[in-house]
Amino acid sequence: MKGTRDYNTSNVEVRRSTAIIEEVERKIRRAISRFHMFTPIDHILLCVYPLPHGLVLADQMVKIEKEFPKSKLTLCSLNEKMLSSIVHNYDVEVIDVGERIKIDIKELERIAEEYNLPLGSLTLAFLLIKLQEIAKEIGATKIALPLNANLEGYLVFERMIYGHIPLLDMPLSAKVERRDVIRVTLPMINILNNTIKEYLKVRGIKYKEQKMPIKEYVVKWLDYFEERYPGILYSYLNNVERLMRINEEVMNVCIKCGRPTISEVCEECRVLISAKLVK
Ligand SMILES: [Zn+2]
Repeated sequence: MKGTRDYNTSNVEVRRSTAIIEEVERKIRRAISRFHMFTPIDHILLCVYPLPHGLVLADQMVKIEKEFPKSKLTLCSLNEKMLSSIVHNYDVEVIDVGERIKIDIKELERIAEEYNLPLGSLTLAFLLIKLQEIAKEIGATKIALPLNANLEGYLVFERMIYGHIPLLDMPLSAKVERRDVIRVTLPMINILNNTIKEYLKVRGIKYKEQKMPIKEYVVKWLDYFEERYPGILYSYLNNVERLMRINEEVMNVCIKCGRPTISEVCEECRVLISAKLVK
């Protein structure tokens, strides 16, 4: 009897593993089509930020990219070694930008405090300014960021705590695109943290948890709400997007980081420039 039970358990596990991989792939493919990625002229710079999210996105994108031989994918990582398990089977270009986009959290914390700005948003602006520079150097047409629903939910919430209008980190339509700014895309926006963790386990991808420049209590609140009221995070993000669409006429794209803003340069970038952290 014991054997039968083991067989059934492992069968359930296999089905669960397959379901997780399929869910992630389906959601990433849907976002890819929404952001019009992998057009024949596309060269996508995928930032594998030192977070598990980036590894999941890279794992899927290197596979999907093979279906689009006319477009190109470059992975940019803080540490090339962490990608070895994902890219060794694929012929994909990897650039190590460790020193260039190294984030001085202490310094960013100090600036965030001094100017009363949300730290997560400030850190993302810093990263995006660097990515915009790198993308222009290599001739990339789009930047892909591994921000998912939980992280984006956090960033929106953080903005509200600081009294800023809530914004999603992606330009909405062609109307708010700019020729001189590389478009920022979020192919993982509809995937939750739990799914990301399960995916990595199922695929046997090793990763190291990194300390994030975010307020843990906000993350816990959001996780708690999502657990009690499944789907609340998605409807929250959808509502923010709807709000942004209402204000589309006044929306602009920051010329430094490429995120939506209502002025020419967003507040985070303005502060980073005046603090001489970026040019
Ligand atoms: Zn900006």
